[in-house]
Order: sequence, then structure tokens, then C-alpha cells
Amino acid sequence: LSTILAQESPRQEGYIRIDNPTRLNLEARLAELEKAKFALAFSSGSMAIASVLLSLKNGNHVLGHHELYEGTIRLLKSVLKKFGVSFTLTDLASNLKWKKLLRKETKLIWLENITNPTLTPIGVSEIAKTVKGREITIVVDNTFATPFFKKPLTEGADLVVHSLTKFINGHNDVLGGAIMTNNRKLYLKIKSIQQTIGGVLSPFDSFLVLRGMETFSLRMKKHTANAKKIVHFLRTCPKVEKVSYPGFSGVVTFWLKKEFSPQKFLQRLKHIKIAHSFGGTKTTILHPFSMMKFSFSRKKLEKLAITEQLLRLSVGIENPKLIINDLSWLKS
Ligand code: PLP
Repeated sequence: LSTILAQESPRQEGYIRIDNPTRLNLEARLAELEKAKFALAFSSGSMAIASVLLSLKNGNHVLGHHELYEGTIRLLKSVLKKFGVSFTLTDLASNLKWKKLLRKETKLIWLENITNPTLTPIGVSEIAKTVKGREITIVVDNTFATPFFKKPLTEGADLVVHSLTKFINGHNDVLGGAIMTNNRKLYLKIKSIQQTIGGVLSPFDSFLVLRGMETFSLRMKKHTANAKKIVHFLRTCPKVEKVSYPGFSGVVTFWLKKEFSPQKFLQRLKHIKIAHSFGGTKTTILHPFSMMKFSFSRKKLEKLAITEQLLRLSVGIENPKLIINDLSWLKS
């Protein structure tokens, strides 16, 4: 936990903001997880995202998918804009119309390979093929899909971003983030930003993430097995309009039929708690519309199918009977 290490020479780095042995250990494991040469561990997923975006310069343009983590959009809108970095959000999932939106100033394409909260898959290799030969960095936020199921760097992405707060740590007890890349120049540039800003993961949190990662594959298998059971159950429920599930991982989204109130349904739950994040050992639920309505218009949210009827479950690793029992009103 020490903030300083005795140096063998005055030129060696022994200060915690620059390097720390536990964090370096974690970074090596994180790189392995994404089949990357380099990784950096940050004090939050948001800090990792901000550090990547701060590697841009005045005049640069970012093209992003229109359904992105709200915080990423907020960073682009309220922070990066001040530094002269512009952005366009569009549909990167369904067709190649977005190609027309590329400018000569476009330096970064940003997407989540499974979007939040509608869980729409986006093909990374298709995008990589389309921009091949141009100097554009493809960044994939792999937090939802996780490296257990998807490794975007092997599909043509240049950089992967994670909120370690979710499945990778997996126990709802660390706020952390990471980037992984095979591009040394990009790694050094972002490391220099990280060292300067100071957004590093603490040694104790690095230790906790390392410990969480010991059970990463076990947890992901159980999250998926449980989620599949819940999806099967939800598809038999008369009060459920639609279910979205990519076929892996522990997040399941569903829409209640119009005549049923999501708020009343949430009040009935006992085992499943309403909570913000996802990827922990216990099942939690979120009503994204309630949170997102402050940042986006109803019209915009409805265009993305983020309606008042949408609920997002983060399926945990407990006995699935406990979860199904709590959801039983949906079947009545
Ligand atoms: N990326 C995704 C997909 C997220 O859902 C979140 C947080 O909810 C983040 C990044 C930001 O991570 P953090 O909360 O660790 O800052």
C-alpha cells in the first residue's frame, strides 16, 4: 500500500501515481485477458474513457454509436467540446450509412459491442474493414460483453475500454477502469495522460480486482447459465412484451406490456434490489428511463426503444430459483 518505493537510482520511478507493483501485476493480467500487449488500470471506467478522449486534440472529430453509456456522451458533450473536439452519434449497428459521416478530421470511432440497455450487438470487424487504411482509432467499450465472450482487439479494434466496476471485479466493492491495446504509441500517450492527471487505481483496489479475477470465468459461466433460465422464464410470462438477450453474459433486458406499471412491479420485488450498476454476484434491477430522462428527451429515448416499460436485470450467481420466485408476478 506504500505510496513510495525505495529506488535503486534517482532515475527509477518509485512513486505510486507513476507505477505500483500491485497495479503493474493487475495490468499484466488485464492485458492477458484481452489478448493485448499493454493495459492500464484506472480509478474508474469513466477515468479510462476520459483519458482516451483526452488523447485527442483541438479540431479532431469522434464518430460514436447513438446508444452509448450515458457518461461517455456526457464527457463528449460537456468536457471534450470545450477543448474543440466535436462528435457525431449515429447508428453503427445496422448499415453502412454512417460511412458518409466520416470526415477527414475523424480520428476516433467509439462503440460498445453490446449496447446498453437494449443489448444490441455491433460487429466490430465490419467497422474495422470499412475504415481500413484511414488513420482512425477504433475504441470498443467491452464492459457488457466482457473478454470472456468477446475480444474486440482480435476483431480489428485498436483499443478496448472497461469499467472494472462491473463483471471483471464482479463483487460490487471496487470502482475501477482499464484500457487494453497492442499499439505501443497509443499506450504511452494514454499512460502519460494518466500519470499527469493521476487517475490511477489504488494498490488495494488493484489487489481486490486481482482477487475478483480469480473467479472471473466461473462467475461468467454461472451468470450466463442463470440468465438463460431467466430469459426462458420471462419468455413465458404474459405480462412481458419482449425480451432482449445476446445469448451470453448476465444482463437481460425486458419490456413490460403497456398496461403494467414498472414502478409497481419494482415495489413487489424482495430478493432483487434496485441498483445502478451491473455484474455483481447478486441479482439487481434498473429502470433506465428514470435515470436517462434527465439527459435525453423522451422522443430520443423512445427512438432507441428505451421506453418507460424497459427494465434491465443484472442476473447474479445465486440460486436461480430465488430470482424466478421474485419475478413470479410477471407470470400471474
Ligand atoms: N462503460 C459502461 C458500458 C458502463 O456501463 C459504465 C458505468 O456504468 C462505465 C463505462 C463507467 O464506469 P465507472 O462507473 O466504473 O466509471
